[in-house]
Amino acid sequence: MASLTFYGGAGEIGGNKILLQEKNAKVFLDFGMSFDFGCDYFYDYLQPRSVNGLECYLEFDLMPRIPKIYSEKMLKFTDMPYEKPDIDSIFITHHHSDHTGHLCFLDEDIPVYMGHGTKKMLDLYNILYPRFNTTGEHNHMNLFKSGDEIGIKHMLLKPVHVEHSTPGAYGYIINTESGNIVFTGDFRRHGPKQEFTEEFIREAARSSPTCMLCEGTRMTPDPEKQYTEEQVYKKIKDIIGDSRGLVFANFAMSNVDRFKSVYDAAIGNGRELVIDTRLAYIIDGLREKVELPDPREDENIKVYFRLSKSCRFCDTDYLKYEREFLDKKITYKEIGEKQKDYVLYTNFNKLMELVYIKPENADYIYSSSEHFLEGEDNEDMRRVLFNWLSHFKIRLHKIHCSGHASKKDLEYTIKKIKPDLLIPVHTLNPEEFKKIHDNVLIAEKEKTYSL
Ligand SMILES: [Zn+2]
Ligand SMILES: [Zn+2]
Repeated sequence: MASLTFYGGAGEIGGNKILLQEKNAKVFLDFGMSFDFGCDYFYDYLQPRSVNGLECYLEFDLMPRIPKIYSEKMLKFTDMPYEKPDIDSIFITHHHSDHTGHLCFLDEDIPVYMGHGTKKMLDLYNILYPRFNTTGEHNHMNLFKSGDEIGIKHMLLKPVHVEHSTPGAYGYIINTESGNIVFTGDFRRHGPKQEFTEEFIREAARSSPTCMLCEGTRMTPDPEKQYTEEQVYKKIKDIIGDSRGLVFANFAMSNVDRFKSVYDAAIGNGRELVIDTRLAYIIDGLREKVELPDPREDENIKVYFRLSKSCRFCDTDYLKYEREFLDKKITYKEIGEKQKDYVLYTNFNKLMELVYIKPENADYIYSSSEHFLEGEDNEDMRRVLFNWLSHFKIRLHKIHCSGHASKKDLEYTIKKIKPDLLIPVHTLNPEEFKKIHDNVLIAEKEKTYSL
């Protein structure tokens, strides 16, 4: 009989760490970090040192005490003895940290499976932000593509791509002796790759699953507004069309659909899109997996270079990956002189550039998670952002659509797949699922459920 244990992902959005066991087969579905991980004990510069491994995390019960899973190095200063791992493998849905952020604690010999796109994203981010590398070392990293079938003892796991706000996202259809188990991962069906999700839904329905683990980020009691990526594109295009000055566009670097929307909207208004060296590196690195313009060649793209450490625009002051884009270099000087010619990719940490650019009649499109502008925990940053916008008399526009399925689309997906048992994960409102399915299990953290 198969069983599921939720070490994360139950009663929270994110932090997926789901153990599936049957007979002697043991696999984890995702090994992510909760969004609020450590926030009760660590703050600002008060952070555990990486050399301590799991010591601080176990002290405060922040990590589950699962034997035979963590690496010897990570257990070194803890009261948990190191034992050889007995987990067959870890299966990752996509690169977001709430699904991969604790991979670094695992024994290096446990095989890890992830999609080619997921690995590419992790590699790109680890080059850009080596200090935040949470992937760790793994002696057996296995890459798959959608539709592959992976045997783990008597179980068969089939990853099928889904659409999400980042490339390389997968759900799983898992064949066990207790029937088929479907795991959606994070998904949506209102973007340009919605056919991926439709394919997953079709395959999942065909498997007549006994159990479905369904994400429910947007399963809320109240209806909410819903834009498609196409609508977001049109609104961004209109804002740029109406602007009498420079347009700033703030969006997540890994959201290549949003990059494309902003890129198309800029071109549609006869403007060039100016991106920074990091985004240029991500877009360039993903071109082998996703259809994207070439930031080195595309005539509609320029790459923004900040004043370097020497306070000059000296090429040798820039990092190696940045120098790849020097042929496309543009600085605050050119942008400041012809503000109406450009759309400039930006984020909170780049506000300093406004001092140099001196924007006039500018517009700022905030096209990322509403949480930053509306949530309770970012008040200080929000205040600072608003002060900057107000100082330079910049108009703020909010336009975004989520990487997660709406309540309506969750209902559609569940009704199509028709599982015998539905287990909500990655949600704060699991009870809501009872309104659309008559056999819902609300899982609790660290409890084991037999199927
Ligand atoms: Zn997630
Ligand atoms: Zn995600």
